[in-house]
Formats: sequence, structure tokens, C-alpha cells
Amino acid sequence: MADNSHNYLWNHSRPFNSYASYIKETFGGRIQKISVNGNFTCPNRDGTKGYGGCAYCNNDAFITAYCTPEKSIREQIIEGKQFVLKRYKKATQFFAYLQAYSNTYTSISRLEEIISEIRQFPEIIGCIIGTRPDCIDAEKLDFFQNLQKEFYIVLEYGIESVYDKTLAAINRGHDFACSRNAITETAQRGIPVGAHIILGLPGESHEEILESAAIISTLPLTSIKLHQLQIVKNTQFAVDYAHNPEKFSLFTPHTYIPFVAEYLSRLSPDIMIERLASDSPRRVRIAPEWEGVKYESFVQMLEDYMISHKVWQGKKYHTHNL
Ligand code: SF4
Repeated sequence: MADNSHNYLWNHSRPFNSYASYIKETFGGRIQKISVNGNFTCPNRDGTKGYGGCAYCNNDAFITAYCTPEKSIREQIIEGKQFVLKRYKKATQFFAYLQAYSNTYTSISRLEEIISEIRQFPEIIGCIIGTRPDCIDAEKLDFFQNLQKEFYIVLEYGIESVYDKTLAAINRGHDFACSRNAITETAQRGIPVGAHIILGLPGESHEEILESAAIISTLPLTSIKLHQLQIVKNTQFAVDYAHNPEKFSLFTPHTYIPFVAEYLSRLSPDIMIERLASDSPRRVRIAPEWEGVKYESFVQMLEDYMISHKVWQGKKYHTHNL
């Protein structure tokens, strides 16, 4: 293998292509996110694709108290900003994050309304829109394409797995071809595309998961968020876990660090990494025990591991894609 990717580690000073670093360079500093709840549902809950949702999904795991749909978008932003500023006192610029459920599962006029309310706040310099790959179409992509000429927009899709057997088993209601199409069409319009991936879904061997890094690398993604599977309350997985825990092979920080390092080594160095692990609050998390490791400490532990083991994102990318 030509070892030119070794330079990657030293040029970037971190062993992976950090989206946070890109944002700092592009916008002149760290940008905090303010979650905004547009009161959407998703086709996997309202019966269009299915009922009950994906087997792992409980939106309560990440909805923050200030962004409840009873409040107007304006109220949510004002309260959200106060909330964020308690922790990040120096923050001056923000992204709005439409995170809960499927945020393009609505009309263009409703999207226009929400975006226009968000843009009343000049300190909000962009919007990240989380959605399903089957909740996008040419008309909505045209809308976002026009919008992103003047306002930073990212479309963030739940891929979760590249394997159709897994997507069926977790009740996603779409296949991987659907993800590929949505991502490709979004990227073709020049819109940055993010993706969520879950590592450790039942039915996938560790080798299958690692091999999926090469498949993910073929997608025109701007960034990805990696999540180790967590079992949270009020989900199908919570029921399954109670009855049949051996069906799950859950990571601990100790086992996840070398695994995700190997995954990154097989991933294209061009895809930026926005997140490396889940961090569900204790009030909803059933398993695994995460040993009290906070996200920031986890990232530091992973970076230390990768540097000490001479592993970096893309190190094995070419050999795995020949
Ligand atoms: S993960 Fe997304 S698509 Fe699946 S049920 Fe939850 S909100 Fe719907």
C-alpha cells in the first residue's frame, strides 16, 4: 500500500478528518447548535411506512426541554440560545438543528415558514435538517438548493446500515438504495450531506460492519455521525433486550475504541467525521453501561488510541477498495 495517507495524520494534527475543525476554519470559530422542533412525525410512525418506528428509536433520548412543539419556533430559539449560552458563554453564532423525527416530511410551504422564522435571528447562520432518505424529492431538493446559495444548509439522512437485511430487521421501511439515491441527488445539487450510521446493530457481524466502511466511502457524503448501538427505553429493542439480551453484542468504551478506530481506518479520508459515539442520557438508556465516560473524554481516548497505534482515517482505505 502506498503510505501517502500517513501525511494525513500529521497535516491535520488529528487522526481523523474532523468536521468540527472544518466548521471552525470555514466560519471562524465553533458554532453551537440550537435544536428546533417543527412538530413533525415520520412515515415510520404514522402508518405511511409503518407504525411504532425504527426498533432503536426514542426521540425523547435527545429532545431537549426547551424545544417542545407547543412553543413557537421563535420561543424555542430564544430559550435554546439561553440554554446553550449557559454552557458556551462566548458563543456568538449558531446553527438551527431540526433534529426530531423527519424534518422534510411536510410541505415546502411549511419548510419555508420554519426557515423564515429561523432567519429572523441573524446570529443563526445555517440550518441542519435531519430526515429520512425517503422523505425527500426533487421539488424539496430544488428548494434547498436555492436556499443554500444564501444560507448554510446541511441535509442529514439516517442511513443506519448499508445492509438491507438489517434495515428490514430494524423496521426502517426503506432500503440502502433509497439512501444512496437521496444522498447522490442531494450532493449533485451542491448541498452538503450528512449521514447517521449505527455500529453494532444485531444481525451484523463485526466484519460486516467494518466492511461497510468501504460501501459508505462510495457515497458523496460531506460528513457522518457514528453511533454505537444503545438500547433506550420505550423502543422495540428495549423489549427484545429484556427477553433476549444475547441477541445484542453491545460495545463498551473499551471494546468500541479499537473497533471504531479500525472502521475509520477503512473509511475514505474525504468524509468528515462529525460524531463518533452516542451519548444517550441515563434517564432513557438501558444498556450498555458506558462507564461514566463523557463524550469529550471518549473522543480524547479514541484519538490517543489511534495515535499510539498509528491508525488514522483512510489508512486502509485504498487496500480495501481495490
Ligand atoms: S429513527 Fe427516524 S425514521 Fe426511525 S422512527 Fe425514529 S424518527 Fe422515524
